Amino acid sequence: MSGDGSSDSLLDLEFAYTSYWDSCRDLYSPYYFCRRPIGHEGVHAAGFGSGRLRWQHEPNHPPHMLS
Ligand SMILES: [Zn+2]
Repeated sequence: MSGDGSSDSLLDLEFAYTSYWDSCRDLYSPYYFCRRPIGHEGVHAAGFGSGRLRWQHEPNHPPHMLS
């Protein structure tokens, strides 16, 4: 995963500097919501380390997890 702004190191930084109220909060599950900034480019993401999740979410469709 690189080139689309969703590398692990970039996500770590984004999460560290983005407060709950400034984050996208796209809901993947009751336990995961997007921690990237509102209006971010590319995939939604949440979690740290081995718990990291990335997903896409089209309107009117359930979230689609990316491998
Ligand atoms: Zn998002």
